[in-house]
Amino acid sequence: MTSDLAELTGLDARDATRLKVLQCIRANGEISRTDIARTLESSPATVTSACGALLDAGLISEVEKTPSDTVQRGRPRVMLQINGAVFLLAGVKIARTAILVVIVDFKGDEIGTYALPLTVSRMPAKELVLQVRAALEAACDHLGAEMGQIAGVALGMPGFINGQTGFMHWSSSVTERNVNFAPLFIEHLSCPTFIDNDANLVAKAEHLFGAGRGLRNFLVVTVEHGVGMGIVLNGELYRGERGCGAEFGHAKVQVNGAVCQCGQRGCLEAYVGDYAMVRDASTGRQGDAPKSIADIIEAARQGDQLAHQVLERSSEILGVALANLVNLFDPEHIVIARSRPPFDPPYPEIMLKALRRNTVQVDAPLPGLTVRNLDESMWAKGAAAHGIEMVSILKVRERSVLDVA
Ligand SMILES: [Zn+2]
Repeated sequence: MTSDLAELTGLDARDATRLKVLQCIRANGEISRTDIARTLESSPATVTSACGALLDAGLISEVEKTPSDTVQRGRPRVMLQINGAVFLLAGVKIARTAILVVIVDFKGDEIGTYALPLTVSRMPAKELVLQVRAALEAACDHLGAEMGQIAGVALGMPGFINGQTGFMHWSSSVTERNVNFAPLFIEHLSCPTFIDNDANLVAKAEHLFGAGRGLRNFLVVTVEHGVGMGIVLNGELYRGERGCGAEFGHAKVQVNGAVCQCGQRGCLEAYVGDYAMVRDASTGRQGDAPKSIADIIEAARQGDQLAHQVLERSSEILGVALANLVNLFDPEHIVIARSRPPFDPPYPEIMLKALRRNTVQVDAPLPGLTVRNLDESMWAKGAAAHGIEMVSILKVRERSVLDVA
């Protein structure tokens, strides 16, 4: 959460300070008022006033620390911490075969996860929202929580989504185009609900808990059914002017190339996404066609030439696409987060060679590269982190309304 986000969401200067103090407490776990003032380069009076409002709202609590050594003899130090118990939040990932829910407290500690299986992977927007409600109710039942305890829900979904307004331009999970989710959420869900591109939320999770911790400029490329990207620049998630940038999967890698699920041709994911690789490895085949990436890998192991060609081409194209990212962004680090089995040799080496060969050569090492299995819960955790951020803003605003009244 950042002060820029405060600007984006229209907080005034006093609320922006309260939000910064809340962020500072969250980042430090436990911290004294004096140390908050020092960290934020703010006056002790300003910090004391902001902490008073946050304490009144129940968002933080005080803990007394008795000094353990004689040097610090005197009054116990009063530390501040996030009040985890104040309410719960839900992070939700719309996947192709299930709706995954993680429930966390306001501190971000996980209460538990739940998956509601889906029988179809693409449905009308209203149906999707009803399925999300069913998933939340089932998750609460399963985890012994009440729906009324949930103060906010954040959904991550693939596609072109404006995270600020809740407007979805296109998604592979929804049958219609151009849907404003905000009124659907108000009608069918009982608490504030936010939606964002799922790769953005994975980038947020990597920034908070993963390989991006402490980094200012890094990219997360998600490779699964489609290909997504989250961009963190100067420590902030970059969303683009219309809030729907970073659709790396639809970057063109071939003029008049393979047909993509977005309706255009030659997109990166039309070569690298699971659906494209399964399609290409099945073309013209008699008998058993591969149905998954695991099947393609197994067929290549058995010496199947078409499976080998599909893996080879996909690895090379991904390497070229990553080189384009290095040339464009000069990031400190790239995380490739994939929901699929790792490719056998020589395919990882083919990808790396294409990456090295197509990166503009300068007298500096390539950025770090982490390839990780995108464990399903990481998507939902990223959504939960987004929920915590958005609900923090709402609660600071609510508190501000009370001040005026
Ligand atoms: Zn496309």
